Amino acid sequence: MKIDWRRNNSLTNFFFNCSSCDLELRVVIEDFLDKKLQNILNVKAEKLNEAIEKGIIKFFEFHGHPALQFKKGIGKIEDGTLIYFRDKIEVIRGFPKIRRTLMLFPTLKNHFKGKIVVEEKMNGYNVRIASIGDEIVALTRRGYMCPYTTKKAVEILDLSQFFNDNPDLVICGEMVGTNNPYVSHYYEEIGNLGFRVFDIRKKTSNDPLSINKKQEILNKYNLPGVRVFGTFNVNEAPEKIKEVIKEISEAKREGIVIKDPDMEILPLKYTSSCAHDYEISYAFTYPFDFGKDFFFSRVIREGFQAFEMKENDEELRERALRLGESILLPMVSTIKNVASGKQATEDMTIDVASPEEVEEFLRHLHNLGVYAVIEKFEDNKAIIRRIHQSTTDKITNLLNGGLY
Ligand code: ATP
Ligand code: MG
Repeated sequence: MKIDWRRNNSLTNFFFNCSSCDLELRVVIEDFLDKKLQNILNVKAEKLNEAIEKGIIKFFEFHGHPALQFKKGIGKIEDGTLIYFRDKIEVIRGFPKIRRTLMLFPTLKNHFKGKIVVEEKMNGYNVRIASIGDEIVALTRRGYMCPYTTKKAVEILDLSQFFNDNPDLVICGEMVGTNNPYVSHYYEEIGNLGFRVFDIRKKTSNDPLSINKKQEILNKYNLPGVRVFGTFNVNEAPEKIKEVIKEISEAKREGIVIKDPDMEILPLKYTSSCAHDYEISYAFTYPFDFGKDFFFSRVIREGFQAFEMKENDEELRERALRLGESILLPMVSTIKNVASGKQATEDMTIDVASPEEVEEFLRHLHNLGVYAVIEKFEDNKAIIRRIHQSTTDKITNLLNGGLY
């Protein structure tokens, strides 16, 4: 079936507003949408058309060139997928969701076969780095080009040789550290800001390289990978992982991702008790800004982990105490703050060279729907304050006699 893309409103508007879309380029884009996109993505034309109508596929102009963003997944195409129209048409697929297991046994044995690789799961935010034309871009999870991340990624990593040799590969990794505007977490080996690669994938198909191939490339280009705890036989893995996860939890680190060495079976994630408590305590600092599912799922993770670890009464009590403290202490502290007239706020620090850079980053946050203000800018560091409005309003209301 052929679709008349010209009758599609959002596309007409885009062509109308896109300053770089000369006639020749329009023909290329229309031809691409008409004939090629369905084949590349293996998604039916009607579905794509419907997605464009609904704004799920959004057209935008990026550095003077047209591009297209998938705001939700369509068929097998992940949300966060981007398509750039340059000399070449480049498809950067979204990073696939990683399913979680609550039990190591029997899930690992059922899900994987033979051997598994245990990698550390770093707590930061997901970044895909790719070369597009003569630029290197860093994309956040949902397919936004974050100006701060792009600048930092090329500062932290020397990527020119890698992309010269491998223009069709995408580096997937975690931006981590304390001066991190999205997920701030202290790692002793990282400090302010760092990057750890966990996957290398192909453009368009999103096929990941095997763990060996990935490691070979990381060594060759001197790129930092996540920590690897080892390769285990799937039958011995649960006992080994229990030890690893205890160690990780004590070091206040997040967890592990378990992978098939060939990357043909989807990976699974498994997290530490410390990470569950940390997230619960963060969420209860702003209790009315998080959904109830957020709390519930983390408590469930604790229940299954305590069971599988075969904890004795004392260990279980210690876990229960930590969990209870993670709920109550932060919440009471926020209520106290709001009672004394303050707002529920969260500060984050970023390294920036100029006030313009901070403004640019704030604009990016506002476009994402996050309300934040500059609290301070000094010595190339900006403190950005995020206001948690629902928590502030709801607590104020309850303190003033509102009913729950
Ligand atoms: P999702 O499950 O959809 O990815 P989420 O926000 O719930 O989203 P997490 O619970 O943090 O994500 O777990 C998945 C994320 O973990 C990945 O998207 C990636 O950013 C991060 N991650 C950290 N270390 C690794 C690793 N070694 N391998 C794969 N992913 C990793
Ligand atoms: Mg994460």
